[in-house]
Amino acid sequence: MRDHPTGVECRSFGGWPWLGLFAAIVGISPALADCGHPRVVVHATAEDRDNACSALTDVLNFFAKGGLVIEPELTIRFRREVYVELVNPITREATRVRVSGFYRESTKELQMTDSSSPWAGQRRPWGLAWDAQVSRSILQHEIVHAIVAQLMGGTYARLPRSWHEALAYAVQIDLMPDDLRHQVVSQYPREEGFATTLQINDVTYAMNPDAFAVAAYKIYVRDGRINFLKAAMALRLEIIDLENYLR
Ligand SMILES: [Zn+2]
Repeated sequence: MRDHPTGVECRSFGGWPWLGLFAAIVGISPALADCGHPRVVVHATAEDRDNACSALTDVLNFFAKGGLVIEPELTIRFRREVYVELVNPITREATRVRVSGFYRESTKELQMTDSSSPWAGQRRPWGLAWDAQVSRSILQHEIVHAIVAQLMGGTYARLPRSWHEALAYAVQIDLMPDDLRHQVVSQYPREEGFATTLQINDVTYAMNPDAFAVAAYKIYVRDGRINFLKAAMALRLEIIDLENYLR
């Protein structure tokens, strides 16, 4: 644009200032920093934006305490309905599924069901009723995906999907207020955590995501919390990627 101005308009309004005027007329707002971070943008009501910023701060503090300090690059978009497209690995058939939220690494965008949506309470992880605490916790799970993606950079895709879920769940449960964590973990009194990291795979995840989450949290605690996370992100653990067997 700078090298190839479109002519008449740029000349008559003196170049760049015209762009600002154009943006104001058609309602395009330039990317604004949110949550005090220059590369974070939150599209939400004031209430949801405050919740998103506070959830982001908690997640960033968690990573910073472990020596992983980063400037997040992330767009958080609250929507009335959030869908993902799931592709059956065998038939390649795609289905649209409504979810609470998701993070897409390719666009660095996180979508989250807004707090006023009638669909907000439809997915009930661990059977919990949807409230401010649960929705904040789910948002933190998605933010963990985003921070892990940013920290891993080019190696992101080498960590299987089930592992990304295991890490997001583990930190999510770790960050829960004590009473909420108790409500989740106490549902699985005999769960001692995955015995080996090979048990973190697409099959154990698909069988029961809620139980998978608690087993992931337990192995994460047992194997050193942030150190477990760092080892996983550095691909230093025994990791099996079942998707390779289905291709
Ligand atoms: Zn997830």
